[in-house]
Amino acid sequence: MYEQLENLIRLQGLDREIQRLTQQLAGIAPQIEESRLHLAASERDLEEGKARVEGARKDRRAAEKDLETQIEKRRKFQEQQSKVKTNKEYQALMGELASLKLEETTAEDRILAHMEQQADAEKLLPGLTAEVGREKLEFQQKERVLRGAEEKLRLELVAAEEARVGIVATLEPATIQAYQRILKLRGSAVAEVRDEFCLGCSTKVTPQNFMEVMRNDRIHNCPHCQRILYYLRPEVRPAAPAEPESAA
Ligand SMILES: [Zn+2]
Repeated sequence: MYEQLENLIRLQGLDREIQRLTQQLAGIAPQIEESRLHLAASERDLEEGKARVEGARKDRRAAEKDLETQIEKRRKFQEQQSKVKTNKEYQALMGELASLKLEETTAEDRILAHMEQQADAEKLLPGLTAEVGREKLEFQQKERVLRGAEEKLRLELVAAEEARVGIVATLEPATIQAYQRILKLRGSAVAEVRDEFCLGCSTKVTPQNFMEVMRNDRIHNCPHCQRILYYLRPEVRPAAPAEPESAA
């Protein structure tokens, strides 16, 4: 086969390889980020759980202080009991004491409710802590695997880019210019001709064109899509079916 044509086919293979590696590399960071977000969500859940415990504890302390104040207030009223002179004063004092006692009961109920809230919130903490541990481990494992894959892809990309530079150096400037122009226009620049059809645009070429391309001895362009055409004898064709081209 004409060497320029062979190298153009290699160049197209390398360009596809470089594109695939670049896409795969770009996909690594979002995967790590997604795993990091899972971890962050579980850490936030734990922080919220701790905040609920602390909130209930503060509410309980405030209610306990309220109760102490109420008790102190009632004690002062009780001290006045001995100083009471009239029945009316006595009645008023008794009424006051009864209402203070009621407020104490209410404060006690509030303390109990906050204690229950605190206990309920505390019960959730071990599960939330374990979840953070699990997510952290998963994140670390995932990140290690993905960083390893990233490193491998980077090396492959460097090798493909170096090989590309080597191939480009063998091509005539006009040939590489034509390749780049058709690649930009069509998404691929080189196409196989098989059974008189350009596999780039699925259009039939003339028998005369086909005969010429079959020789593989110079550069022919598809009359329809301008792709650079080559011919493979059936026995040297790859086993897998030819890749469909991205644009006609
Ligand atoms: Zn074509």
